[in-house]
Amino acid sequence: MKLIFERSMPGRGTAYVPDLDVPEAAPDFAQRERKLRLPELPEVQVDRHYTELAKETRGVNGGFYPLGSCTMKYNPAAAEAVAALPGFTEVHPLQEDATVQGCLEVMQLAEKYLAEITGMDAITLQPAAGAHGEFTGLLLIKAWHRSRGDTARTKILVPDSAHGTNPASAAMAGFEVVNIPSDPNGYVDLKELSQRVGPDTAGLMLTNPNTVGLFDPNISEITRIVHEAGGLNYYDGANLNAIMGIVRPGDMGFDVVHLNLHKTFATPHGGGGPGSGPVGCKAFLSGFLPGIRVEEKDGKRCRSEAEARVGDVRSFGGNFNVVVKALTYILSIGREGVPATAANAVLNANYLMHRLKDIYPMAFDTTCMHEFVITLEHFKEETGVSALDIAKGLIDYGMHPPTMYFPLIVHEALMVEPTETETKETLDEAAEGFLAVLQEAREHPEEAHLRPLTTRIRRPDEVKAARKPVIRYDFGD
Ligand SMILES: *Cc1c(COP(=O)(O)O)cnc(C)c1O
Repeated sequence: MKLIFERSMPGRGTAYVPDLDVPEAAPDFAQRERKLRLPELPEVQVDRHYTELAKETRGVNGGFYPLGSCTMKYNPAAAEAVAALPGFTEVHPLQEDATVQGCLEVMQLAEKYLAEITGMDAITLQPAAGAHGEFTGLLLIKAWHRSRGDTARTKILVPDSAHGTNPASAAMAGFEVVNIPSDPNGYVDLKELSQRVGPDTAGLMLTNPNTVGLFDPNISEITRIVHEAGGLNYYDGANLNAIMGIVRPGDMGFDVVHLNLHKTFATPHGGGGPGSGPVGCKAFLSGFLPGIRVEEKDGKRCRSEAEARVGDVRSFGGNFNVVVKALTYILSIGREGVPATAANAVLNANYLMHRLKDIYPMAFDTTCMHEFVITLEHFKEETGVSALDIAKGLIDYGMHPPTMYFPLIVHEALMVEPTETETKETLDEAAEGFLAVLQEAREHPEEAHLRPLTTRIRRPDEVKAARKPVIRYDFGD
């Protein structure tokens, strides 16, 4: 496919701007040194170019997208429509409280529902993403220990089934990370935990359901062990899609939790757009929360800030329009819809796992939550065909590949998360695709290394694409 600059021809442009008929008033310092180089194409060519590009883009709208750990579900358009209302878009965070009562009510309601769903007492909507929420939550834990004069607690325990951002956030917040291994079933090894917890433990960060898609059955025991040692418990709630409305981190012994509104609550995820990672905490930590508190005085809502807060992690109230979408979603699916969403996400994952498990070896042969992990370690030994080859093959069957080589504790991993928004027919079609790809790879391993066969570009250098992306046109001068 040609780039738009390669399609350009001098004089072909569509110039609707008339010649200047007033004196030119451009100060020297604002003059460009060189003429602006825009591609020159007729309007229809521009339209076709972008339409062609759009067709090359694979999104949830284009087909099954089972990217594990990402909850790539379809988000209802109604949430976008509400967030686009002028009352939400044409406001400024520095406006007087009296002029933004509706927006403050949105924040207040969102906090109330998210607190109820997580079992927490207070919420900040300020963090802009999941990892940002983790960092914020860890700052709360640090501030609390400090406020009690306990400076010896410098370590955060992180199970090896945690999301990769957990140890990274703990290190960023200035903690030392202590790894807790999993037992053969994929759960936190309680013996190892008991041995590593101590007077230097600031807290534990647990991803639950964890990155192998399992709900830890010892969760209450885990949080009790950490509390008894004087540490706090942090819940990575980015996987809340699997449990919301059914169980609550606050009831499992957790003190702090973050959510990914851009996974669970109606904001498309993965396009690099704005996210939101609200953090909830128990009452004893609420004084440390960053961001805005909305209070009611004489029937009016007003903004205030918590006294001992750890400092803002972002400007104003965070990505407010993402919060509007989350609230719209929660209100539209309602008290019954929240747990039903979780139940269907788990049902869909188990259904697909069962359709595949005779052929695809599962890393853990048990009921999963919202996602499951395949291991192709033996398949690779037998055939030379890797998880990467199979993932690439799935593209030829109209699917976005699942997450590969993650979690790190499973070798040749494929991590599949279908989400609740897929129908049984889609799951059946996907299962047929998965089975066919593996079958073909067994019969013709050499072909499997060449897949995908149906795309314009087959195997780009992914490291180079990520580290040295070429995103500017090279005019060659
Ligand atoms: C996605 C995810 C995160 C990180 O969220 P970002 O918004 O990408 O920073 C953290 N933990 C888990 C379990 C996740 O799935």
